Amino acid sequence: METRILLPKQIEEAAALLKQGEVVAFPTETVYGLGANALDTRAVEAIFQAKGRPQDNPLIVHIGAQSQVQELVREIPPAAKLLMERFWPGPLTLVLKKGGLIPAVVTAGLDTVAVRMPDHPVALELLKSTGFPLAAPSANISGRPSPTRAEHVFADLKGKIPAVLDGGETGWGVESTVLDCTVSPFRLLRPGGVTLEELRTLVPVQYGTSAGEPAGEQIPRSPGMKYRHYAPEALVILVTGSGAAAKIQELSEPYLSRGEGVGVMTWNERAYLYPDLTILPMGPLGDLEALARSLYHLLREADLLGLKVLFIEGVAEDKLGLAIMNRLRKAANNREIST
Ligand code: AMP
Ligand code: MG
Repeated sequence: METRILLPKQIEEAAALLKQGEVVAFPTETVYGLGANALDTRAVEAIFQAKGRPQDNPLIVHIGAQSQVQELVREIPPAAKLLMERFWPGPLTLVLKKGGLIPAVVTAGLDTVAVRMPDHPVALELLKSTGFPLAAPSANISGRPSPTRAEHVFADLKGKIPAVLDGGETGWGVESTVLDCTVSPFRLLRPGGVTLEELRTLVPVQYGTSAGEPAGEQIPRSPGMKYRHYAPEALVILVTGSGAAAKIQELSEPYLSRGEGVGVMTWNERAYLYPDLTILPMGPLGDLEALARSLYHLLREADLLGLKVLFIEGVAEDKLGLAIMNRLRKAANNREIST
């Protein structure tokens, strides 16, 4: 199949494909999504097929107006309503009790559904134009870094989907925050653009393993969390703490002596610490927004550069740093060294 690249002025063509039950990649303010009519089982199955996504990993349903949520869920707790009013449109996904309209394939058979309203003019226009909600995971091959540019989508899904709607580089660069609103207090399942600190100014939120949960829980709360994610082909090693530079130098030696490519993701101001390594610049020191935006692009660059190993300097886990470290740990498959 030929994969067409559509411009925002061709939104109607993208909408027409979606109405025919096809999948289309489109920009959101977080990352590119691979969308299909959320109410059409066959269309949604095509998402799983194009991505190679495991069937038991449910999708987020995107809506174009806050009022649409009522048709998709059984109830909206008042505190969830408060969050919608404050953070929608925006990078916050709410897990609510599922209504009858949503087919089982979307939620991987769960009785809950994840819903959000994206804050991107192209996504909102597309949703308005189709009139139905779009189920959309990130538009990458399962396990690869999420796409933040149309070219990333093209690199992964060329020949597998009919079209990519090109809206330029995405704003946030990390996926939405996922919050389970079916438990009390609400539980953060995935940190993202809307921070834990921001959520807690409005409602109590639990995060991390809660007491009483069996070890090795069979059904993870956010099923996507059990899969390897965001991973380039290079070996990724996350290094935290004040001795990171010395540790990275030391661990690089054997690779360098074999003539293998060694990269390091570091803040611009710290690049001089690594004269022998390939620098993948994280942006100005401490600028978490800039880092989030370029994170997945840098992980993809590591592969284009043919690096054997990629060291990444960890960041502090507050505000957007919580989402960034969550993604980096997955990219590193939990290979983490504290110094
Ligand atoms: P993606 O769209 O690929 O960024 O992944 C969506 C994330 O939302 C995954 O981690 C899913 O497991 C999670 N998710 C989607 N639906 C639900 C749900 N009903 N309950 C819990 N987590 C969900
Ligand atoms: Mg994804």
